[in-house]
Amino acid sequence: MRHIAIIGSGPAGYYTAEAAQKKYGDGVTIDIIDRMPVPFGLIRTGVAPDHQSIKAVSRRYEKTALGDNVHFAGNVNVGNDVSIAELQNLYDAVILATGAPDDRPLEIEGSDLPGVIGSAAFVGWYNGHPDYKDLDLPLDGKSVAIIGNGNVALDVARILAKTEKEFAGSDIVAHALDWLSHSNVETITLLGRRGPHQIAMTPKELGELGQLERAQPVVEAHDFPDESADALLEPGMRKSVTHLRDFLAREAELADKPVKINFDFFAMPVAIEGNGKVEKLVVEKTKLDADMRSVGTGEHYELDCSMVISCIGYRTPPIEGVPYEHGRGRFANDEGRILPGLYCVGWARRGPTGTIGTNKPDGFAIIEAVAEDIAAGANKEGRTGLNRLLASRGVEAVSFADWKKIEEAEIANARDGAPREKFTNVAEMIAVRES
Ligand code: NAP
Repeated sequence: MRHIAIIGSGPAGYYTAEAAQKKYGDGVTIDIIDRMPVPFGLIRTGVAPDHQSIKAVSRRYEKTALGDNVHFAGNVNVGNDVSIAELQNLYDAVILATGAPDDRPLEIEGSDLPGVIGSAAFVGWYNGHPDYKDLDLPLDGKSVAIIGNGNVALDVARILAKTEKEFAGSDIVAHALDWLSHSNVETITLLGRRGPHQIAMTPKELGELGQLERAQPVVEAHDFPDESADALLEPGMRKSVTHLRDFLAREAELADKPVKINFDFFAMPVAIEGNGKVEKLVVEKTKLDADMRSVGTGEHYELDCSMVISCIGYRTPPIEGVPYEHGRGRFANDEGRILPGLYCVGWARRGPTGTIGTNKPDGFAIIEAVAEDIAAGANKEGRTGLNRLLASRGVEAVSFADWKKIEEAEIANARDGAPREKFTNVAEMIAVRES
């Protein structure tokens, strides 16, 4: 029997578990350990609440989770409740699928002012992540600046722009829906340090901005290269750029929408200023060099805003004793191998890129690596040893059956038309399990 521990119950974790099930059948036990008492990681607290069809993939993970040889141990903090070295003693393979939940730091002057918020916090807040439920957001301002031109920046802009009605059928948490319905935001500025041909926004997500009830996406013609240059783009990017050109073509049609989502291209934030809170963003205009990198032109402008949301990518938090690549914000690894018996997968391996589906081949590849390295199990204790260790430390792990009780209560608590009202507090989740 082989014993595998997977740390992290998001897409990378569950695709890896599925791959191990398929590879070994009954010849494996798979324990999925998570810091949160609830599973599915990014699907629950990263994917936007108005993208329910993307969240539906959790049904596939549930099928894996309900397999006889798969066990969920939630509410267990690796590095705190149990160390990597201890897990390595108990399991033939320990696979880190911890994702990239921390923000890349925005290293400009003023980024510590109240009102500067990282996307991990903002996205966690509207998705009910217990770490961010009490995020203090200023309600008074009319303008928000969003730094970055990726899909997270798009999610954040869309959530800020939607009307309460447009959240029907979503699982946005009550505190966020309440804040948004009282917010006075009229201008949302998306700042890209490069141009329309360098965005990291996918077509479906960008197209949604053109369909909002009260918001108009605004682009400037002078930022675009000649239309003939679009033909050289790869098909997905070409579609995204076509959406941007369409926003320009529909300018008159959309003009009466009161909320503006301005695309400021070739715009590099260099400082945030304000008296005890964010009041303005100082931006340097940029141009592209021969390698398509942005370089400052020396020309600056200022943007009045009460909130700056930085959406410039994520990092994997280091774990004591695990080699780490600080520059890239992920574990040091060779195709997922970190040390003998220790592996990483998904964003913890390759950084925060790709779609949820990208984690599937990743998970299957790491199990092939495990199979190459570990021909047979080495009589390790696996789950029995973990349970004994946790019990000796008074750590109460949450099982998948416990999660199903929590889920049932969340469904019962849903407002009309919503799939669930999430618990945002770990103690409340655990109390439901015990009820
Ligand atoms: P991302 O795709 O890497 O985009 C990061 C953006 O931040 C880029 O535009 C980048 O510009 C910019 N940036 C980086 N450092 C900067 C700095 N110091 N100053 C100014 N701008 C800076 O990251 P993400 O948006 O966080 O998304 C992470 C992953 O999740 C992506 O794979 C994304 O597609 C995925 N995701 C998918 C969905 C969806 O499919 N619905 C939703 C959300 C996220 P440069 O290009 O110039 O570096």
